[in-house]
Amino acid sequence: MQPLMSEPEREHTATKASSEEEGVGHFVAEAIEEDLRSGRVREVVTRFPPEPNGYLHIGHAKSIVLNFTMAERFGGRCHLRFDDTNPLTENQEFVEAIRRDVRWLGFDWGEHEYFASDYFEQLYDWAERLVRAGKAYVDHQSEAEIRAGRGDYYRPGTDSPYRSRSPEENLELLRRMRAGEFEEGECVLRARIDMRSPDVNLRDPIMYRIRKVPHHRTGDAWCIYPMYDWAHGQSDAIEGVTHSLCTLEFRHHRPLYEWFLEALGLPEPRPRQIEFARLNMTYTVLSKRRLQQLVEGGHVRGWDDPRMPTLAGMRRRGVPAEAIVRFCRQIGVAKRDTVEDVARFEHVVREVLNARAPRAMAVLRPVRLVIENFPEGHVEWFEAPVNPEDPSAGTRKVPFSRVLYVERDDFRETPPRKWFRLAPGREVRLRAAALVTCTGFEKDAEGNLTEIRCVWDPASRGGNAPDGRKVRGTLHWVSAAHAVDAEVRLYDRLFRDPDPCGHEGRDFLEFLNPDSLQVLRGCKLEPSLAEAAEGVTYQFERLGYFCPDPDSRPDALVFNRTITLRDSWAKLEKKLRSGKH
Ligand code: ATP
Ligand code: MG
Repeated sequence: MQPLMSEPEREHTATKASSEEEGVGHFVAEAIEEDLRSGRVREVVTRFPPEPNGYLHIGHAKSIVLNFTMAERFGGRCHLRFDDTNPLTENQEFVEAIRRDVRWLGFDWGEHEYFASDYFEQLYDWAERLVRAGKAYVDHQSEAEIRAGRGDYYRPGTDSPYRSRSPEENLELLRRMRAGEFEEGECVLRARIDMRSPDVNLRDPIMYRIRKVPHHRTGDAWCIYPMYDWAHGQSDAIEGVTHSLCTLEFRHHRPLYEWFLEALGLPEPRPRQIEFARLNMTYTVLSKRRLQQLVEGGHVRGWDDPRMPTLAGMRRRGVPAEAIVRFCRQIGVAKRDTVEDVARFEHVVREVLNARAPRAMAVLRPVRLVIENFPEGHVEWFEAPVNPEDPSAGTRKVPFSRVLYVERDDFRETPPRKWFRLAPGREVRLRAAALVTCTGFEKDAEGNLTEIRCVWDPASRGGNAPDGRKVRGTLHWVSAAHAVDAEVRLYDRLFRDPDPCGHEGRDFLEFLNPDSLQVLRGCKLEPSLAEAAEGVTYQFERLGYFCPDPDSRPDALVFNRTITLRDSWAKLEKKLRSGKH
């Protein structure tokens, strides 16, 4: 692959690149450093707090990488906390998928796995404390009335008629709420802060609502469930989290986050919320709600469909975890929302795979090629590098015989200008094997190519002409007698629009790419691929990167295309660097 930068440029950016690689040179790291320097905190504790209502996607990976990297960088720890406060949408399948995916990325939370639902009792005790202090009250207004009463950015809110009840009365009502004496929607518990606050989030936010729904962990123990704002900061405090890193939308919630900690009089050091920009990416939808729509609407085969931006989908597609982590570190963190070009992500995937993917040959749209002067029944075994980028990977043996398969596309009866592949009279190199010259071809009654005929030069064993004559085209091939059959699934972007959610009045599903999956059957693979290991992504020479799918069986192989070889990002960068844009 072409290097992206010339040597002097590389040196020039060396320091920047190394902090970029580690993902530590940014404002979040600086804020944590400052807290350590000033002595406000001694040990850094971060957390990744997924709600188990779906599978993790690459946006979550950004948060995972940030939280674990900060903990590691400052010698602290990172917790995995399931933010399981909404029993309607959460379940155990999602809990297990989340664990699997975080582990797959290479992060370890050790014994520090927590559930917000384990804090329900503590949260409830604290709610009673606020009620007794006159800082929370039970409101019997409907949710619509509460919403209307909050006002908006331009209009102050108005007090609820239930706002001035006594702490004793409220305490009794809260206990009755917990005991299940009220129906869903009959009442809620609200913090008593300030209905005229310029900050709408401080206008008596809801702390608890009634949901008579069993919870996947606490069963029927509760019929009141805490709201995000009430659960999150307190959970952070319970675990001794020092830095609560969350996405920008939550910056408006920070005053409330701090108000609760203060109202409860929790000890220092209190957790500090710091916001960073979420990951957005072109051609990609990163919202669990929408991903769930794709799954439930049958637009994809499941959460781990290889076209999904989920970690499970990417794993199934053959994307290495290392590429996801490297990408997250390279894009860094900022305080302003941006959209990453998916081509940049794909570039990193290619970079990682190019360095480590074992090479193999596979013919996706095969046509027979017969070598007329090669003895029938004879086999020659040629040696080919497993990975030319990594000599330590060694070599593999590929069988060569009289009848081979090559790509249909690599032959033209009447070739265009600059055609270096097969055509009558043309000589090409069969990779790692020999030079062959096309002597003819055959077609069926409909005019479809059925066979290409060639002669080989036995003196060119290994692929080089003995007299040094120039042969520009190199093709991949497999021996027909040795080849194994496979189904190959070619994936393209799931959406055909760079911003499928950005069209006013139109549903993102309208922008699905109808050609995002193409299934090829009867593909011919080199025999070593019969033993392809799950979890290994191969480079099929000249075609791209491919990996076995979990559907694959020894007698019915199935491969997924991870990505093609065409790197539009590398081209773009080169152009930008050379100033020709
Ligand atoms: P939804 O997409 O349905 O709004 P969510 O993505 O916020 O939900 P959570 O399970 O609450 O789902 O997310 C867990 C953590 O991952 C949160 O700290 C959240 O800030 C972070 N996160 C979620 N999406 C992104 C993203 N696109 N980029 C960076 N971090 C994200
Ligand atoms: Mg969320």
